[in-house]
Amino acid sequence: MLPKEASDVDLLRVHTPEWIGKLRSGTLTASEIMKLEVPYSPELARACWLAAGGSILAGQMALRDGFGCNLGGGFHHAYANHGEGFCAINDVAVAIRRLQADGGIRRAMVVDTDVHHGNGTAHIFRDDESVFTISIHQLNNYPAHKPPSNVDLNLDDRVEDDEYLETLLPAVAESLEKFGPDIVFYVGGADPFCEDQLGGLMLTKKGLKERDKRVFEEARKRGVPVATTLAGGYARQVEDTVRIHVNTILAAKEVAESLAG
Ligand SMILES: [Zn+2]
Repeated sequence: MLPKEASDVDLLRVHTPEWIGKLRSGTLTASEIMKLEVPYSPELARACWLAAGGSILAGQMALRDGFGCNLGGGFHHAYANHGEGFCAINDVAVAIRRLQADGGIRRAMVVDTDVHHGNGTAHIFRDDESVFTISIHQLNNYPAHKPPSNVDLNLDDRVEDDEYLETLLPAVAESLEKFGPDIVFYVGGADPFCEDQLGGLMLTKKGLKERDKRVFEEARKRGVPVATTLAGGYARQVEDTVRIHVNTILAAKEVAESLAG
């Protein structure tokens, strides 16, 4: 199913009118473009609107079917009033606020497994008790400033599969029990991979698929719908990044089928 671009009303539940206006008109300052770390173009702006529409649609599909997967999105470094680190619009935040506005959900949880801390998401929801954020990331990596998530799992450099899963899974299970969300948004970065050029963790492709599957199982066995997004991935071989992202979708399919069977 093809998403529509998110509307400005959707974006303005998260972002400031000033920032949306600059993205629409291409009037970002030089320092704003430097922070964003990608050159501005109208196509970039359109892709952001579309990614937000994709995460809204994935959330709606998840509420209907148990799972919904956006083949994009996960722009977790975007703040309300500026972009950072390749992220201009925080599609997951936009989707959560839209589902809340529609009355489809009250409480949402974000599980962010990108190797980089989910700083924009943490900041956007810092005073919002209806949204619970978990970020598992390499501590010694971008972004330098990491505003607190509800749960921050700070990993040392070169952590491998077992330690990663032993850190992540109990935290996800406990948070699901305590918070009781109506939906989980999963920001499934491919960049904890051992061959990633911007990451410093040592996860294997098998370990990353296990990560996806086990998080999905924790949510789905409690009846919580899951919407997935892609987030980052910069493996030396681009095929590896693609495979890791595809595996996230396959993991969702496998968990959906195992629970149905
Ligand atoms: Zn990342």
